[in-house]
Amino acid sequence: MVAPTETLPTVDHGRPFDPAAIRSQFPIFDRLLPNGKPLIYLDSAATAQKPHAVIEKERECYERYYANAYRGDYQFGVQIDEELEATRAKVRDFIGASQSEEIIFTSGTTMSINLVADAWGRKFLKPGDEILLTQMEHHANIVPWQQVAHATGAVLKYISLTSDWQLDLNRLGDVLTDRTKMVAVSGMSNVLGTAPPVREIAAAAHKRGALVLVDGAQSVPHLVTNVGEQEIDFLAFSAHKLYGPSGVGVLWGRRHLLEAMDPFLGGGHMISEVFWDHSNWAAIPAKFEAGTLPIAQAIALGTAVDFVTSLGMPAIGAHDLDLTVYAHQRLSTVPGLRIFGPEPTQKGPIVSFAIEGLHPQDLANLVDRKGVAVRHGHHCTMPLHSLFGVPATTRASFGVYTTRDDIDVLVEAIEFARQKVRRA
Ligand code: PMP
Repeated sequence: MVAPTETLPTVDHGRPFDPAAIRSQFPIFDRLLPNGKPLIYLDSAATAQKPHAVIEKERECYERYYANAYRGDYQFGVQIDEELEATRAKVRDFIGASQSEEIIFTSGTTMSINLVADAWGRKFLKPGDEILLTQMEHHANIVPWQQVAHATGAVLKYISLTSDWQLDLNRLGDVLTDRTKMVAVSGMSNVLGTAPPVREIAAAAHKRGALVLVDGAQSVPHLVTNVGEQEIDFLAFSAHKLYGPSGVGVLWGRRHLLEAMDPFLGGGHMISEVFWDHSNWAAIPAKFEAGTLPIAQAIALGTAVDFVTSLGMPAIGAHDLDLTVYAHQRLSTVPGLRIFGPEPTQKGPIVSFAIEGLHPQDLANLVDRKGVAVRHGHHCTMPLHSLFGVPATTRASFGVYTTRDDIDVLVEAIEFARQKVRRA
């Protein structure tokens, strides 16, 4: 068994964390669904609901000082720039980075990873170089690397999984070699919930001279992230899974790496000078922020960071663990139900499962009648699902507003679905 990551939470019962009170900050839960049921939202890994403060910040921006960013010297233009820089500083502190210029606003995790694969990979990868991924990656952390591997002649390799759904780090030496130039690994699997020991992987990669990119789409909303302590080189994440707006995300990278890379997209704002036949690039972060940013969304990302910071990441981690332990206990009472993923203490708040004789799509549709929103399908991890022996799973994933009662309703709804299918 692989040692659990140093950032996995421990239960801290001494700290008050009231999901019911937190839930009251999310207006979406005030409404009933079209069928009159209350919303039991168990799809936070796909996207998280938004607290009032985040919605209000976006509205404030549009109503009170909206202008384009980094272009106008008039009062609103300056205010927009200040708000964006305030978000950049909050994100910097939240992920343990040291410089605001290393925080690049992107459209989300997918774009952040594509940016690195393209702007770093096409410049620095050579035929025979190796890119090391893991078997549990989301398509967003596979496909861009396949594309750059095809373009450069680099080769993809994968860290395999153990039978208990951890990365098989005992065999890391088989796949991490002197030819490895990039190790790109999820900070938390969006299907298994597995949260690998990023720091340990980064140390091993650096010994071989490889860089490390962490796909933080799932880990950043749930685990303490500290790029300095974890000694990684790039971090990608999305605001919308962190209770922030959709359409905006972050790439953090080490300054010297970002400076050595060519731009990913060309256009306005990313240049210092443009001539008829060539251009010179702006300094980071502008070099990677071509065109108009998702302005209001990026500003409200700062509010989302304030929101989770005020709850406290360790408290969020303890809440996640409590729910995950409870969900495993309750779901294990369902006949024929198999969970894909490690024990609750070894993972984040994501529970993927299959039930014998019940197709995940039918299950998702039937539990929806009870107001329960769960995801079904391959969850953008087709290669991982090929290891399961089932084409699709059902996934319940939790957020700060999730309660044990929600899990009880899920289990009742599953029972309802089982009876319906049995009778059909
Ligand atoms: N990586 C992981 C682990 C994810 O869960 C997701 C979203 N499902 C992504 C990447 C892609 O995120 P986005 O769609 O916000 O770019």
